[in-house]
Amino acid sequence: MKYIQDLVKTLQGGTNTTGVFLGLLTLVTVIAAVAHLSFIFLFDSVGVPWMARANVASVLVYVLSALLIQNGRHMIAMVLIVGEILLHGILAVAVIGWDSGFHYYIILIMPVTILSNFHASWFKAVVATAVGVLYMALDFIFRNATPLDVIPPPMLQGLHYFNQASTLVILAMLATAYYRLVANAEASLRHQACTDPLTQLQNRRFAMEVAQHEAAVFERGGRPLALVLGDVDHFKRINDVHGHETGDTALKAVAQALREGVREVDHVARWGGEEFLMLLPSTDEEEAMRVSERVREAIAQIDLVHQHQLVPISITLGVSLLTPGESIEQALARADQALYKGKKAGRNRVILAGHEA
Ligand code: GH3
Ligand code: MG
Ligand code: MG
Repeated sequence: MKYIQDLVKTLQGGTNTTGVFLGLLTLVTVIAAVAHLSFIFLFDSVGVPWMARANVASVLVYVLSALLIQNGRHMIAMVLIVGEILLHGILAVAVIGWDSGFHYYIILIMPVTILSNFHASWFKAVVATAVGVLYMALDFIFRNATPLDVIPPPMLQGLHYFNQASTLVILAMLATAYYRLVANAEASLRHQACTDPLTQLQNRRFAMEVAQHEAAVFERGGRPLALVLGDVDHFKRINDVHGHETGDTALKAVAQALREGVREVDHVARWGGEEFLMLLPSTDEEEAMRVSERVREAIAQIDLVHQHQLVPISITLGVSLLTPGESIEQALARADQALYKGKKAGRNRVILAGHEA
C-alpha cells in the first residue's frame, strides 16, 4: 500500500501530488470493496438477487482496481472504477429507484477526474461536462419512475443515507487531502524562496528583509543589532586543490558551525559564494565579539578530509553594531571594511568595525 503512505506523508507535510491522488484512489477502492461486500448480503437478504449479483461483480472490480493501482496500472484501474460507478449507479436507480441514492457516487467522478494529474485539461472538461449532463438526465428519467423491484421503505431510506454519507465523506477526504497539498506546497515554496539550497541557511534576500526589520526595531528604541560578515579564507585554493565538491562540503560544514555557534533567535545567512552574514539581535559589542570568536575557532577546528589530506578551513569575520540613524547598508559596509582589514592582517581573525564609515 505504498500510495497510502504517500497520502499519510502529504497530510504530514508532503507535496507529492501523484502520490496523494493514487493514495486517495487506493483508499476509496478499498472502502468501496468493503461497502459492496456488505451490499451483497443486504440485497440477498431482501430478495433482490440482481443487485446482490451486481455487487459481487463490483467487489471484484474494486479488488482488481486496488491491485492494478499498486502495480502502476492506474489508467485501467480508473476506467474500471468509473465504469463500475456508472453501471452500478444506473442499474441501482433503475432497479430499486432514485431514492436508493446510488446516483450520488456518479457526481464523484467529476472532482476525481479534475484532480487527477494523468489527464489533459480538455479531457477533464469533456468528462466533467458529460458527468454533469448524465447526472441531470438520470435525475430527470428516474426521479419519478417506478422501480423494477420494490424494497422495504426503511431499507431504501437506510441505503439512501448510507450512500449520501459515503459520498460526503469521500468529498471531505478529497477536499482535505488537496487542501493539505496546496498548503504544504505553499509552505515549501516560501521556504525555498528564503533558503540557500546548498547550506540550507537563509538566503541573502531574506536576510536583508530580516535585517531591515531588526533595524526598524532598533530605530524605535528597541534592542541593538550586531552584524557579522564572514568570508572563508583562501576558499579558491580549497576548490583548486581538492575540487569543487569538497569546496561545497566545506561550505556546508562552515554553515553548520555558524548555525551551531549562535542562539535560536539569531539569523545566519549565506551572503554570497563563501561569504556569510550573522544577525545578532539584542547583542552588544562585547557579546558579538565573543560569539564571532567562538565560531571562528569552531570553523578552524572543522575536520574535513579529502583523499587522506586534511582540508584546512578558516574564516575571517568583521563585526559592526548598528548605530542610531545608520542604514543597514552602511553598517554592513563597515563590517565589510573590518573583514577586509582582517584579511590584510593575515586572515582567520575577528575584527571589530570602527564607528565611522
Ligand atoms: P580570501 O581569503 O581573500 O577570501 O580568498 P578566497 O580564495 O576565499 O577568495 P575569492 O573571492 O578569490 O574566491 C572565492 C571562491 O569561492 C571563488 C568561487 O569559485 C568560490 N565559490 C563561490 N561559490 C561557491 C560554491 O557554491 N561552491 C564552491 N565549491 N565554490 C564556490
Ligand atoms: Mg569572498
Ligand atoms: Mg574568501
